[in-house]
Amino acid sequence: MDVETTTSAAAARPTAPRITTELPGPRAREIIARDDAVVSPSLTRAYPLVAESADGWWVTDVDGNVFLDCAAGIAVASTGHAHPAVVAAIQQQAARLIHIAATDFFEPRYVEFTERLAAIAPFEGQARVFLTNSGTEAVEGAIKLARYHTHRPGIIAFEGAFHGRTLGALSLTNSKVKQRAGFGPLLPMVHHAPFPRVRAWREHSGGDGTAELEVLRRSILGRLIAPADVAAIVVEPVQGEGGYFPAPAPFLQGLREICDEHGILLIADEIQSGMGRTGRWWAIEHAGVEPDIVTTAKGIASGMPIGAFIARDAVWTWPPGAHGSTFAGNPVCAAAGLATLRLIDDGLMANASAMGERLRAALDRELADAHWVRDVRGMGLMVGVEFETHEEANAVERHAFELGLLVLECGESTLRFCPPLVIDAEGIDVAARIFGEAVRAARSPEAGVAEVGG
Ligand code: PLP
Repeated sequence: MDVETTTSAAAARPTAPRITTELPGPRAREIIARDDAVVSPSLTRAYPLVAESADGWWVTDVDGNVFLDCAAGIAVASTGHAHPAVVAAIQQQAARLIHIAATDFFEPRYVEFTERLAAIAPFEGQARVFLTNSGTEAVEGAIKLARYHTHRPGIIAFEGAFHGRTLGALSLTNSKVKQRAGFGPLLPMVHHAPFPRVRAWREHSGGDGTAELEVLRRSILGRLIAPADVAAIVVEPVQGEGGYFPAPAPFLQGLREICDEHGILLIADEIQSGMGRTGRWWAIEHAGVEPDIVTTAKGIASGMPIGAFIARDAVWTWPPGAHGSTFAGNPVCAAAGLATLRLIDDGLMANASAMGERLRAALDRELADAHWVRDVRGMGLMVGVEFETHEEANAVERHAFELGLLVLECGESTLRFCPPLVIDAEGIDVAARIFGEAVRAARSPEAGVAEVGG
């Protein structure tokens, strides 16, 4: 395990949440009211957390309440909040050089970071990298590269997918209609194929994706769009926003076969599932499948805004000027990214595997009598607990918050755990215990949700 998480700062960390005010507290209410007056109404805050500071997997709000963080800023704070090595890298780089514009000039951190990303690319052979400012820009760039390289317009994505909110990425996003409503027309020749939503626990739905591959082959590539018009198939190896559904290995292998058969590029969107979260650098590695392009962001720099798309050398057929960005690959973000990759390599992937297993086992135990819970599933520290309804998931999420645990909803009725990869066994056990309490509280008669089923 990484030694720097066990220094004096870590020793002073809390071992349990501490809620000392009503929620939201007085200071939080004031900030929320001001936010309400000026911020875009498109943001959807799940519950009224007003963060002031954070350390490791603990977040303190503006009223001094302390929460156990299993949301990690949507799977971003991979090395934990304020990891000393990341903070030092940011501070040193900020004092040295904040910005130069890698589109126009060379810079050592930019090269070193892209070298490291190329070295961990999930495919054999040489890789090249384009750095971005966000996940959606990584997807946007990957779409452009795939179209440019293949001279084909079409893209296949999947039902339930989330790939971002800029217009190209949004055309692939298919998880909630409100994310698309009012923004059309979107990219033409994009088709969504069914994604295997395989449950692991109560409703062993079985399935290895064969039926979904058949629909893709017959109904989509057989009737809707000619394979020769398809530039890329874009898939999340673990569907994130869509509900934390790991794609079965045979499904990903089948996609690779279809791509090979028709000269289509396989793009793995690992923006949520990558960077060690599932116990390997990339979730697609578990299936033994090599994509042609991989997109990454979120956990890549512990919270600094940077992403990337990484592709096989042969795919980069575009010329100078075809793509660029003023801020992307900013030296401070790249320095944070380098520190993050070192920490992930240095024990955090193994910790994600071990803690993910511990979390699933602890949740299985905690929820053994909660028959209204449909499923506990996931890979590494990407774990989803599915309920029967959105209302139920929402109520549990709110109760968890009031008990001092941060989790986030995804899909129609799933709560996701995506804690910092540094979390320890004690943190996992406390999280599972509080979650169990929240589930029971949400189902108590006082909570107004009657118990059903047996
Ligand atoms: N792709 C996946 C799989 C994601 O989970 C997300 C964000 O949740 C994105 C793309 C978009 O990333 P960003 O919000 O950084 O634009």
